[in-house]
Amino acid sequence: MTVALYPGTFDPFHNGHLDIARRALALFNQLIIAVYDQPEKQLLFSHEERIALAREVLTEAGIDGRASVMGYSGLTVNFARQVGARVLIRGLRNSVDFNFELQQAQTNHWLAEDIEVICLFANAPNHFLSATLIRQIAKLGGDVTALVPACVARALRQLK
Ligand code: ADP
Repeated sequence: MTVALYPGTFDPFHNGHLDIARRALALFNQLIIAVYDQPEKQLLFSHEERIALAREVLTEAGIDGRASVMGYSGLTVNFARQVGARVLIRGLRNSVDFNFELQQAQTNHWLAEDIEVICLFANAPNHFLSATLIRQIAKLGGDVTALVPACVARALRQLK
């Protein structure tokens, strides 16, 4: 049984993330969505809130059986080893993502040869989607209902 880890900031979890999670579940028996605690970017939701929201998304999407959510800090490869995950899942939208992910994957391979990275390409409707964009639209009072799961849209409305 292969456990896959899908690490990220998920601030907030959006339709692009959900699509990658669903597709990873079609390939692996178990998926752990790993929410990183302190990225070097300004956050909208706290670590606890991002974890809780990701859990709500999985329940809402009906995929909380084989997929779960865990918070983590420190090196992703160390966390992957800790939870018995041999595979890291990443989503690729464009060449900017590709260049970043290539360097990240090579670094992770240098750190931990036993862990493989598998990249899935973003589906057409989610190509332009990023958490940064969603944070910006939501902050400026725009409607992001079509871009995020319903529970995330509710959480964003409550921020206002
Ligand atoms: P962000 O959404 O701000 O890029 P995350 O750290 O939350 O950042 O992303 C976690 C993973 O999800 C990364 O591998 C990222 O490339 C991927 N991802 C982000 N947005 C999308 C999208 N629209 N479609 C597919 N994958 C995506």
